[in-house]
Amino acid sequence: MAMTKRLMIEGVSAEALARRFGTPLYAYSKAALLDRFGRLRKAFRARPTLICYALKANSNRAVCRLFARAGAGADIVSGGELERALAAGFPSGRIVFSGVGKTVQELELALRRGVLTLNVESPEELAALAAVARRLKRPAPVSIRLNPDIDPKTHPHITTGRAENKFGVERGEALRLFRRAAADRWLRVKGIQCHLGSQITDTRPYALAAKTVTGLISQLAKEGISVELADFGGGLGVAYQGDREHPVEKLAATLAAALRPWPRVRLLMEPGRYLVADAGLLLTRVLYRKSTSRRRFLIVDAAMNDLGRPALYGAWHPIVPARPRRGTPATVDVVGPICESGDFLGRARRLPPCEAGDVLAVLKAGAYGFSMSSQYNSRPRAAEVLVNGTKARLVRRRESLADLVSHEL
Ligand SMILES: *Cc1c(COP(=O)(O)O)cnc(C)c1O
Repeated sequence: MAMTKRLMIEGVSAEALARRFGTPLYAYSKAALLDRFGRLRKAFRARPTLICYALKANSNRAVCRLFARAGAGADIVSGGELERALAAGFPSGRIVFSGVGKTVQELELALRRGVLTLNVESPEELAALAAVARRLKRPAPVSIRLNPDIDPKTHPHITTGRAENKFGVERGEALRLFRRAAADRWLRVKGIQCHLGSQITDTRPYALAAKTVTGLISQLAKEGISVELADFGGGLGVAYQGDREHPVEKLAATLAAALRPWPRVRLLMEPGRYLVADAGLLLTRVLYRKSTSRRRFLIVDAAMNDLGRPALYGAWHPIVPARPRRGTPATVDVVGPICESGDFLGRARRLPPCEAGDVLAVLKAGAYGFSMSSQYNSRPRAAEVLVNGTKARLVRRRESLADLVSHEL
């Protein structure tokens, strides 16, 4: 074991970033972000497709701005994300608004800003939207979110398209909602949407969903209701460990084939994770080493409040030293300072010898990392930097201790 290769993010070493900006620190590679978007767009080029970046995966404005400039739309799930998306430069006509619990204020904001469509998820939400549209005298663009009852075989907490999930409406209900929307002078039927879950590595669930969606499109056509958008949501998986990355070319071909009878229907996708996961990492420093009779621990300065995925879903992220030391590797648990036994970043990892002060990198942490972070245990949230070649730019400053109490009265 004589690895001494330094970990680089583009042209900047991980150690230099940690020194300059402190830890815990999220770092994103601009080239990797744009490369992902380019690959996806290329895969879908055979049919005009609007790729709407799901902001919740990583809503940092600098990251969003890159996608907005590259021509992406945005998939948002709250009024806060709507304002973020607009501030980052996404045109309102390329923003789709998802979510089961949009408030009246959020519906109103979406209509005032002029979003492309609202993905409606229940009869009561449709009625609320119609009422807001009537009051504002602005017709509301409506898509119905279908729950196709498909099991994408991913983690139960990130499965969304099954009949026992709270998302979307079943086929019969969707038909009724389309009829109601078509008959309401303040509602405009735009499309059908579905989103099956996250970290899906197989095209099959999408092929099944496409069957239901196209079946519904033909049924609606027979009734004189035409649909402009077919939105298959996000969920494209990345390769964290043994799993493979979603075969996006195959997915594009599958969806294009399913939609062939409807050349005027615009295809829409809402990827989040796929665009940002691999482009980001979390840097952390070793604070202490300790052992019990059963385990060896590396206690580091990042915790579940910074990166919650391991604690929440048992997610596996690669962990590597920024500059591996020579010596015999050991099996260690990499844990944070938080008072929960669930606070770990990785368990039973083979790592080269590490000492206090060493920098470790938790890889593939660009999605649902910072965006899910919290101040639990009164820990200020981490800083974020964007790396472009040999330059690193702070894109969110580290929170201060004053920030922790700034809202308290
Ligand atoms: C979370 C979410 C997405 C993005 O999911 P990924 O797995 O990150 O691609 C897309 N659409 C909707 C409605 C979502 O809730």
